[in-house]
Amino acid sequence: MNSEKSIKLHVGIDDTDSAEGMCTTYLTCIILRKLEELGIKPLDYPRLIRLNPFARYKTRGNGALSFVVNLTSEEVELVENIVLEYVEKYAMFDGINTNPGVIFYEGEVTEEMRQYAKSAIYSIYTIEYAEEFAKKIGAKYHKFKKGRGIIGAIAAISIELTDQTFECLAYRIPENYGTKRQLDDESIFYMNEQTYPETFDNIDIEENYAAIEPHTPCPVLYGIRGNTPEIVEKAHNLVKSYEEIQDYCIFKTNQHTDMHIQYNVKIKDMVNTGCYSFDCQVIQAPYDIEGGHVFFKVSDGTDVLECAAFEPTKSFRDIVRKLCVGDKLTIYGGLNDNHTLNIEKFKINEIEPQYTYKNPLCECGKRMKSAGKNKGFKCPKCSKRLRDADKIKEPISRDIECGFYEVPTEARRHLAKPIIRITTGADKILSKKY
Ligand code: ATP
Repeated sequence: MNSEKSIKLHVGIDDTDSAEGMCTTYLTCIILRKLEELGIKPLDYPRLIRLNPFARYKTRGNGALSFVVNLTSEEVELVENIVLEYVEKYAMFDGINTNPGVIFYEGEVTEEMRQYAKSAIYSIYTIEYAEEFAKKIGAKYHKFKKGRGIIGAIAAISIELTDQTFECLAYRIPENYGTKRQLDDESIFYMNEQTYPETFDNIDIEENYAAIEPHTPCPVLYGIRGNTPEIVEKAHNLVKSYEEIQDYCIFKTNQHTDMHIQYNVKIKDMVNTGCYSFDCQVIQAPYDIEGGHVFFKVSDGTDVLECAAFEPTKSFRDIVRKLCVGDKLTIYGGLNDNHTLNIEKFKINEIEPQYTYKNPLCECGKRMKSAGKNKGFKCPKCSKRLRDADKIKEPISRDIECGFYEVPTEARRHLAKPIIRITTGADKILSKKY
């Protein structure tokens, strides 16, 4: 028997929760606690990986989980059994769309696996494809019910993070599941003051409320997002809870990194469920439709695309309404099944001057009136006439500036990079330390 810890085991878990309860992050947390009791610690922070935001069977944010442990050959079976036992015990098997999947993979992640993971963010896979892929890479896979979770579980162990953030998730005691969360709001605002912009998206600035609690009966009490594990832990320690916290866990994640965004794709080549960033020009002014959604059209010279700021994006729609034909933008967003781009953020690169045409002013200071077709203008006050004059072109002041604009916290996709991470340069620092 080999008692040296020479086997690197990657564990991937997905699709254990439903709208009625559970959370795969919590399941991962309790598995890691159990392993800790046995003296087995993960090599790094567990990972919470968000995949294609348009995946049809997602519960909320299409997240999958993974962690890596170094093991002796005897420990491999022990760890695998614990993981499977916990999934069997805690997954929400009653959920119609809960189809857990677990992956065990020994060794180093390969380029082929990294590519699989990237495409799981960009496009949609079938369970059969994932199963074939698991066989090809020599991974062990376990499907519960339909086992759709293997799609995400493989991606979670395989993805390479070129930018990353951290989320500290605090969990409730089971007795409190489904009840109103008892948090001290003031402490959350204080935490934000002390840690922003290293933490972000924890307060909805527009509605001025704490945005760290989920609104579902899941085990999560709150989640705090930030750039480093230290800052999310500090923030966690500043938040006061009036209910007991069972445990907390810090996850390394691709949330808030724009990892779902594909660049350099022309509008003519964009496909539904793909997310893109592209330069374009407004070719049809924004207009409101029933339900409070705002639409407009853009072109990049290869085709025309309809873009939308939907009702939940609230005041972001007011910015969108200010756009005019000719404005040059860089848009970030995802194409829904109707081939409409759901905007996440945009940058105004150039503001197209807009003009209004007015009748000339009379010497007496009064605005002149038309004297009839091709008859020039006449002053209604002093009756002076101008026979050959044209209307005067006057610029309209544009109440908007060049720069980035984004949807509010509450309407933001997990993967969408907040502007604050761009302006502070946090997205460029992938510290080796983590
Ligand atoms: P939560 O955010 O609470 O963790 P969720 O939104 O992550 O929930 P899941 O319960 O994980 O939802 O369900 C998502 C399902 O979609 C999983 O079975 C996952 O394997 C699958 N999936 C993930 N990415 C893709 C993809 N690119 N194509 C097809 N299916 C996918």
